[in-house]
Formats: sequence, C-alpha cells, structure tokens
Amino acid sequence: MQVLFLASEIFPYAKTGGLADVAYSLPRALENLGVKVLRAMPLYQKVPWEGLVPLEKTLQVRLNGRPYTFRLFRKDNHFFFEQPELYDRPYIYGPPGGSYPDNDLRFGGFCWAVAEALGAGLLSADLIHANDWQTALYPVLHREIYRFPQPVLFTIHNLAFQGMFEKESLVRLELPWSLYHMEALEFWGKINLMKGAIVFSDAVTTVSRTYAQEILTYEYAYGLEGVLFKHRHKLHGILNGIDYQLWNPETDPHIYQNYSLRDPSGKEANKQAMLEELGVAAFFAEKPLFCFINRLSHQKGVEVLLSALPDLGRVNAFFIFLGEGEYGPQFYGLERRYPNMFAQIVFDEAWSRKVYAAADYILVPSVFEPCGITQLIAMRYGTLVVARRTGGLADTLVDVSYPGGYGFLFPDPTREDLLCGVKRAAELYNTHPRHFQKLRQRVMRLDFSWERSAKAYLRLYRSLLKGKR
Ligand code: ADP
Repeated sequence: MQVLFLASEIFPYAKTGGLADVAYSLPRALENLGVKVLRAMPLYQKVPWEGLVPLEKTLQVRLNGRPYTFRLFRKDNHFFFEQPELYDRPYIYGPPGGSYPDNDLRFGGFCWAVAEALGAGLLSADLIHANDWQTALYPVLHREIYRFPQPVLFTIHNLAFQGMFEKESLVRLELPWSLYHMEALEFWGKINLMKGAIVFSDAVTTVSRTYAQEILTYEYAYGLEGVLFKHRHKLHGILNGIDYQLWNPETDPHIYQNYSLRDPSGKEANKQAMLEELGVAAFFAEKPLFCFINRLSHQKGVEVLLSALPDLGRVNAFFIFLGEGEYGPQFYGLERRYPNMFAQIVFDEAWSRKVYAAADYILVPSVFEPCGITQLIAMRYGTLVVARRTGGLADTLVDVSYPGGYGFLFPDPTREDLLCGVKRAAELYNTHPRHFQKLRQRVMRLDFSWERSAKAYLRLYRSLLKGKR
C-alpha cells in the first residue's frame, strides 16, 4: 500500500506546532507496519537544500489568472514543492500572531500542484491523506475536478483554523462557481476550505475521541457543527502519539543530564541545573518547578494564565513559560514583576527539551485541545501534568483522585480552576514526596507511542481501499 501524506509542516523541515510532530511520526509508524508513505509539503525558505534532488519535470498551476511554475524536489520519501514567489518567505504562515494575505494562493496552490503531480505521474498513491485546512482544498480537487479514483482521508488537527476566505478566493483559486453552494465550499457568504474537505473526503478523522464528540457541538466547532453532524458517519477519533525515539530523556542530547525510568534520579539534576542557569537555585531548589510550553494563544488558555499571574506570584514555586504568539508581549519583563517566574518568548526546540526535563509539572490550561502533544512529551520526561479536562487531555490523563491516576485535571478554563490545580500539585510535591516520586515513575511507564494509533489508521486505510466507508 502506498499513501501520499500531505501536510503544511513536517518535522524537522518545518514546525510551528503539533502538526509537524504528527506529520513526522505517524508516517514513520505506518512504515513500520509495512505501508509506503510519500510525504509532500511546500519548500519554505527555512528548509535546508542539503540532499534535495530536483525532479526533471516542472508543473504549471494557474492561480489568480496566470500560470505559476512549481518545481519538485525529493529527499528520501519527502517531496518538496518549490514556488519561490509563494514560499520563499521568512515565515510559514506569517509573522507571529499573523498570517500572509495570500495564504489562499499559497496553500490552495500547493493542493493544485499536488493534484497536477499525481495527474502527471510524478507522484503515485493508492490513498491520499490530507491534513488540516492548508491541504483541505486537495480532497475537493481530487473528487470534483480531477475525479481521481483513490480514496481520500482528511484529518482535522485543529478545527479553529478552517481556511476561510472571501468568496473572491474562489476566482483567485481558479475554482468553478458550481462549488459555491451550501453543500460544498460556500460558508456564510465566504468560502471555507475545511468544510470542502469534510464534505468531499471519504473519511474524516480527528486526533482524539473526546474532540471527535466535542466538534459536533456549537462550543467547539466554530460553525462547522452542522456539516460535521451531517457527515458524522465518516468521522473517527484516533488519538495522536509521540515518537519515543525522538523524545527520550535517556538519549536526548539537549538536556543537562540523561535519565531513564530505571534511574530517574538524573531528572532532579536537570531541575537544579536549570535553576542554577536562571540564577534562582538558592531560593527555589526545594520548591516545585512548573512550566508552560505552548503557543501563546487563546486556545492554550493564555488569557486564563495571564489573569492568574498575581496569584501564581504568591505560590511558593517557580514558573517557566516558553512560547510564542499573539500574547507574547504580555510576558515581556515578567521576571521583574514576579521573582518566581521566567518567560522566554521564542520558539526554541532545544530549550523546550531542557524545560521538559527540568520541570516537576507542566501546565496545560487549554480552552480546547484536539489532542495535545506537550502533555505526552512531558510525561515521557517524568513531568506530571496539570490540565483542563478537554479533548485529548481528557483522553490521555487520569486525575490522581482516581485509582491509578497520574494527572491533575480541572473542569473549566478559569483562573480559579487553574489555581486549584496548581495548589493541589504543589501540595502533593511539598507534603508527599514519596507519592510524588511514584507518580513520576507511573507517567514514565505509560505508553503513548504511535504503534496503536498507527494500527487504527491502517485499519481505516484498508477499509477505505475495500470501498467500505
Ligand atoms: P499545537 O496546538 O500548537 O499543535 P500541541 O500540543 O499539539 O499544540 O504541539 C505543540 C508542539 O510544539 C510540541 O512539540 C511543543 O513542544 C512545541 N512547542 C510549542 N511551543 C514551543 C516553543 N515556544 N518552543 C519550542 N517548542 C514549542
């Protein structure tokens, strides 16, 4: 079986969030099950040219009334689509907190180019797996324009980003007006690419069972609940995993000291080294260390976090924030306001690994969370999770108050609930150190690797190939 996997970001070539992690690790897990997976993504400025081999044939795609030439480059099973006018820019989607005004052409154009490449025989596949709004036009082109025979699967990693554009984009993307109606791309006078993918794909998956339920409701679906409800017979929730080789405290070269489940004592050395590096070891060596590693956006509960800062400033613990995004500026100078906090407003993978290894707890107060990768990485590194009970967080964490539990869950994304979670966690650390160590080992023993989820995808691929929906 050969699958073509489309994504706008694939680690290590491009990453702004969890999609890149999934687009790296799911295809690898599928390969371990014997599936051949070709990956396709745009060739951004930051992708290193090393090892890229150009394909001879170029592709012409008509966009906005004129032709654009795409060149394809191959490295192993990765295909990079080069179009300098569209992708040779400093950011993937736009500057932090913003987006490029021509993202309809940038990502719609990518989908056209992929379809052209399949039509021209530059790529071949038994099944196409598209991901998120950036590749959501692909299923529409596949079914309605090219009428290719293969099944198409679409995965929703985040329904908050739907690829919504003014209806003029239909013309810019050279799409027929026959697609502008309520059973296709039209959405309240605009066009919605995610809607198109839901309608025209043979199956739609999302990244946890709870999120698959949540997105049938008004609160979580951002207007697509009706469309999803209508197509619910083809909706599946398959939990994400993480790559246990890529995220491994035993071998991670970026952390201060390696450690493992067998000998987790090195984790404490990571904490002390980080507190030393931040110059606060004299005050906080014996106190719990909390961290937050995520996009600084509404989704991640950052307003809640900001409103709780004065209270957290009074908790006898140290807090490290690592993130980038629209709320970034509100964290500037945090250390001066609160001596028990440190914020780094950058995207820095190496530093994130140090923080995962050093922290006792990670905070994930998300307003919604399709799956969430940070809590899985944290637990792999023996870091306990304080999170809001929603989406994939609800599916991967069990509150400590339940038998066998190992997390601190709170019901609502509010200041009060977050504080309650933090206080419960701090109290456990301060008053029950033995139990805390036991929980640390318990989370390190959990298995959120991709194997099981990759098998679920494979079953779905097979059923689609058999023509069963
Ligand atoms: P998202 O909604 O952003 O995809 P996930 O929890 O699924 O959230 O994945 C987030 C991924 O991005 C994790 O691998 C996390 O470690 C990483 N990440 C988020 N912010 C940063 C940052 N500022 N620096 C480094 N890595 C980050």
